Amino acid sequence: MSAANLVDQLLCENLKALQPYQSARRLFSGEGAGEKGIDGADENQPAWLNANESPFANEYTLNCASLNRYPDCQPPSVIKAYAKYAGVTPAQTLTSRGADEGIELLIRAFCTPGQDKILICPPTYGMYAISAETFNIGVEKAPLNHDFSLDLEAIKAQVGKVKLVFICSPNNPTGTDVGKQQLIQVLEAFAGKALVVVDEAYIEFTQQGSWADELANYSNLVVLRTLSKAFALAGIRCGFTLADEAVIQALLKVIAPYPVPEPVAQIAKQALSDSGLQRTRNQVAIINQQKQQLQQQLAQIPQVTLVGDTAANFILFRTGQKQALFESLVAKNILIRDQSKQLNLDNCLRITIGNDRQNKMVLSAIQQFFQQESSNS
Ligand code: PMP
Repeated sequence: MSAANLVDQLLCENLKALQPYQSARRLFSGEGAGEKGIDGADENQPAWLNANESPFANEYTLNCASLNRYPDCQPPSVIKAYAKYAGVTPAQTLTSRGADEGIELLIRAFCTPGQDKILICPPTYGMYAISAETFNIGVEKAPLNHDFSLDLEAIKAQVGKVKLVFICSPNNPTGTDVGKQQLIQVLEAFAGKALVVVDEAYIEFTQQGSWADELANYSNLVVLRTLSKAFALAGIRCGFTLADEAVIQALLKVIAPYPVPEPVAQIAKQALSDSGLQRTRNQVAIINQQKQQLQQQLAQIPQVTLVGDTAANFILFRTGQKQALFESLVAKNILIRDQSKQLNLDNCLRITIGNDRQNKMVLSAIQQFFQQESSNS
């Protein structure tokens, strides 16, 4: 029997139709970037504006003296530093391979395959549903309203039917913050029934306060965080789950024995030092300023309609010529993200804020595309 036939025979039923998450890097590989990295000044390098990464590549030092040893499961210095940064206690803090692993751990710890369900509010980040599906966990949907606020009626209708509620704020890909009053209603509706997971991957870019401050008030609140966005460390895969100590202890039952590689711990610690935090704040300010400029300039293009908000590090817009524009940008080595398959986001594209050069490149390429379009018609 061929391996392919054996796989057909053995593969879990729930995985047969599953499409893996089409991450930005799976769609366009970063391999071949060379020593300068993908943000080097090389004009031939694509402008990577498709994965909501930071355009800043910062320097770190690495001490190899203990690489022969397994690392701590939860490196205390990283846990302490992140807890301090987030204003929670170390016992309320777990670190993992990106926020993505936090999502997976929550599902594995709290949902029984073939029996339990999670709730998501699309359009939103794709990994909640994919992670659930890989473990044969059902996915209920309460789509966002047309202004991308939560549909509280639809959400409350799921009380008692789901174990986890995933709410992304600022939401990817709409860039909208979830209103505080709305979230309080969700937390109260599911009190004693389900965990409400607030994904704050983009929290540093918004003026809205973090839900980490509310952990003491809501025992069913879980907050997800990451170093991949504002901290410019998507390459090290380091995220955090903040929750009541009892929730963290449950997640530690299912986490791998050594989930945080030693080099990751060393780099995370430097990023969370006083000077690291200051650098992050400076870089966030630059990105937010660039975002405002790009947003204003895109808004002046008649064929472009801005969609949602810009609370995170990206801009979402709609255009009737979505496909042709996307392809013309790819041809110019400018990679942005097609979001048009998401619920209510037909013809929508998402641009991650890059550095000044990349933002200018993408803007002028879009302007040129529409100038050419109108001269052709
Ligand atoms: N949550 C959201 C909303 C995201 O957009 C992403 C990454 N694109 C993640 C979580 C995953 O982050 P990480 O890199 O920490 O796994």
